[in-house]
Amino acid sequence: MRPPSHKEFEGTVLEDQVEQIRSSFPILSRTVNDHPLVYLDNAASAQKPAVVIDRISRYYREQHSNVHRGVHALSQEATTAYEAARDTVCEFIGAADRSEIIFTKGTTDAINIVASSYAGRMLKEGDEIVLTQMEHHSNIVPWQLACEMSGAVIRVVPIKEDGSLNYSEFEKTLSERTRLVALTHVSNSLGTINPVKRIIADAHGLDIPVLVDGAQAVPHMRVNVQDLDVDFYCFSAHKMFGPTGMGILYGKQEILNKMPPYQGGGDMIESVSFEGTSYNSLPHKFEAGTPHVAGAIGLAAAIEFIQEIGYDFIMDHESRMLDYANERLGAIERMRLIGTAPEKASVVSFLLGDTHPYDVATLLDRLGIAVRSGHHCTQPLMSHFGIPGTVRASFALYNTLDEIDILAEGLERAGKILF
Ligand code: PMP
Repeated sequence: MRPPSHKEFEGTVLEDQVEQIRSSFPILSRTVNDHPLVYLDNAASAQKPAVVIDRISRYYREQHSNVHRGVHALSQEATTAYEAARDTVCEFIGAADRSEIIFTKGTTDAINIVASSYAGRMLKEGDEIVLTQMEHHSNIVPWQLACEMSGAVIRVVPIKEDGSLNYSEFEKTLSERTRLVALTHVSNSLGTINPVKRIIADAHGLDIPVLVDGAQAVPHMRVNVQDLDVDFYCFSAHKMFGPTGMGILYGKQEILNKMPPYQGGGDMIESVSFEGTSYNSLPHKFEAGTPHVAGAIGLAAAIEFIQEIGYDFIMDHESRMLDYANERLGAIERMRLIGTAPEKASVVSFLLGDTHPYDVATLLDRLGIAVRSGHHCTQPLMSHFGIPGTVRASFALYNTLDEIDILAEGLERAGKILF
C-alpha cells in the first residue's frame, strides 16, 4: 500500500485534533536554538501535559502528607488519592485485582524486583532465563546479577535481519531448564513489536512464566494483562506523559505471594520484633518506605489523559507518522534504516552513510530537533548489527507530519555538511 502523503492530511479532523493535543503540552511551544522545538525523543521520555503538571502541583499545594500512617485528614486524603491511583492503573491494564499493582521507581526498578526475588529463592545452578537479542540493558543486567548469585545462565533468542524475533529459534530455546522468559513488548531501538501473546501461550504450554518489559508499549497501544495472560508486566510513567521516578510492576497474585520482599522497611511489614518480622499483604509487601505519592497521582492523571484521547486515535496517528517517516526519510541519500520489521511502533532508527550518529544529532539540535543518538542502552543489539549506535526519531501522539518534514530537511542539510 502506498504510504500517505503529507498533503492528504492537511485540514483533516486528525490534524485539528493533533493541534489541540499539542496545546495541552506547555513545553511544545518553546524554542530551542532559536527554532521551534521539534521533540522526537519520546522513546527516552515523553513530555507532560498541563493536566499532569497541575495535578502534581495540586497534590503538593493542597493534599500532601505521608500515606497509610496518620489518622489526620491530610494523611487520609493523600492515602485515598494514592490508592485511587492504584485503582486507575489496575483498570487501565485490565488487572484482576488492585493488589497486583506495585508502585515502583520505573521499569528498571520493576524488573530488578522480580530478578532479585528470583535470584534469592527461585533459581538454582543450571536453570535458564530466556532473553532476546533486542533487550534494553535494564532487562539484561538484573538477570546477569541474578545468574551470578544463583548459578543460573542466560539464553538469548536471536533476531532476523529486519529486527523481528526469530520465532523458530525462540521455540527451540525453551527447555525443561527454563525458569522464566523475559522480553520486551516493543524494542526501544528498533520499534519492533514482539508477538507477546503467542510467546506467553507457548511458554505457558511448558509451564514457564513470562515477564514483559512494556516500557515502550503502553504509550502506544492498549495493553490488557489478563488478555495477554502475562505473569509480570513492567512500565514507566515518564514515557507515557507522567512523572519520572514512577513505574509499575504488575504481577499475578499467586506468583507475587510466593516471592520474598525486595526491600525491607516501613510499610511493608505486618509486625516487627528482633526475633522476626512478618510481612504486609500485597501490594504493600513490595513497597517499603515512603512511596512516591505525587508520582502515583501524576501517573493516574497521565492515564486519564491517554484515555480521554483514546488509543484508536493514538494508533491511527502514529501509524500514519511511521509510514510518512519511512517514505520521507527513506528517500534521503545514503539513508540506512535499521529495523524494518513488519510490526513496528512509531520509532525510526537510522544511520546517514558512515557518519557518526552523534554528529547527525548535534547538527539536528542546532535546528531545534531533539533526537537520540547512541546505543540506546541496547549494546548487544548494536553489536548484532555491527554498528556503534543509531540516530533514533521516536514519535508520540503530539508529533506532526510537518515535524517529519522538518526532520527530513534537517537530515538533508546534515548530509551536505557531513558527506
Ligand atoms: N525497557 C525499555 C524497552 C526501555 O525503553 C527503557 C527506557 N529507555 C527501559 C526499559 C528502562 O526504563 P526506565 O529508565 O524508565 O526504568
